[in-house]
Amino acid sequence: MEENRQLLEIASKTAAFAYAPYSGFKVGAAVLTDDGMVFTGCNVENAAYGSSMCAERTAVFKAVSEAKTNLKKIAVAREDIGETVYPCGACLQVLSEFMYDGTVIISKNGEPVEIKLKDMLPYNFELKK
Ligand code: ZN
Repeated sequence: MEENRQLLEIASKTAAFAYAPYSGFKVGAAVLTDDGMVFTGCNVENAAYGSSMCAERTAVFKAVSEAKTNLKKIAVAREDIGETVYPCGACLQVLSEFMYDGTVIISKNGEPVEIKLKDMLPYNFELKK
């Protein structure tokens, strides 16, 4: 699907902005809202490693801070779009809060592959009322 390819390319371009002086592992993300807006994110590392943030959560938090909480898809990519990268467990949990019926787009040899978030995190954490 053309939309998935575009999101993957945006994510890959955003990876160039990653601040990753410690790991050298640059990642970009592009999240699509249900009303067609795209928010990007990159990983931002810190000398206090635990203070670092992943690309996916950066993108989600940017969207939510702009009052966009209905998210549809998120693409995750390296600067070299041919390299495959998957969201970490913490990001999958955060994604499940805003787009549990949505999909994650990753790159396989530069081609977009769409995976249901529920397949990546079948048992998300929820506070039951
Ligand atoms: Zn993550």
